[in-house]
Amino acid sequence: MRVAVVGAGVMGCATAWALRERGAEVTVHEQFGLDHDRGSSHGRTRIFRVAYPEQFWVRFAQEAYAGWQELDPSLLGLYGLIELVADPALTSARALDECGVPYRLLDRDEVRAHGAVLPDGWTALYVPDAGVVFADRARHALLEAARGRRRDEPTHRIDRRAGRGRRRRHRRLLDSRSRPGRAGDGDA
Ligand SMILES: Cc1cc2nc3c(=O)[nH]c(=O)nc-3n(C[C@H](O)[C@H](O)[C@H](O)COP(=O)(O)OP(=O)(O)OC[C@H]3O[C@@H](n4cnc5c(N)ncnc54)[C@H](O)[C@@H]3O)c2cc1C
Repeated sequence: MRVAVVGAGVMGCATAWALRERGAEVTVHEQFGLDHDRGSSHGRTRIFRVAYPEQFWVRFAQEAYAGWQELDPSLLGLYGLIELVADPALTSARALDECGVPYRLLDRDEVRAHGAVLPDGWTALYVPDAGVVFADRARHALLEAARGRRRDEPTHRIDRRAGRGRRRRHRRLLDSRSRPGRAGDGDA
């Protein structure tokens, strides 16, 4: 199966990796470079959380956690996250219990020790296995895994031919059928 993935944000890069894992030949097309800042996936970090009041979101987050661990555990910074809610009935506690995710309720002093203030009547729920995903590194790691590349190869190549005749150059960041050196005419 040959698949073209349009867009090398985190979703496109993750899709390319998942397709390659299933044996597909994948080409990733990106209108800008891999590290451009005109999409949503650039920057050092994004929050990675598993605490949701609905069970199905927790299960998705558990699946994502397993995926990050498989790809590269160092892509997650598990510093812990605190959920603060005004109504105790709205915490994620029940969903976390049902999904077997460890958490702890914090009292006012423990919250203050984390540099926050717990208003009267509010509940604080601490999840240790949450924090951030290192966003910029994650996109590179996903594309590298999709290519199955060696660590000493260039991260991606730019195909300038693909954009000829168009106002905007279109870049082919990954072509799993190409050997290194044949995908494009320059490195980025
Ligand atoms: C300020 C901000 C903070 C956020 N914080 C969090 C957070 O803490 N935790 C969290 O989980 N999520 C967070 N999000 C959401 C998360 O970042 C996005 O859901 C995610 O990055 C979306 O990825 P994407 O690949 O779908 O989109 P994008 O990253 O936008 O990627 C789409 C790519 O497709 C390319 N493209 C589009 N059209 C074409 C075309 N025709 N040809 C070629 N290429 C094309 C674009 O150039 C772009 O590179 C945040 C988002 C923003 C903006």
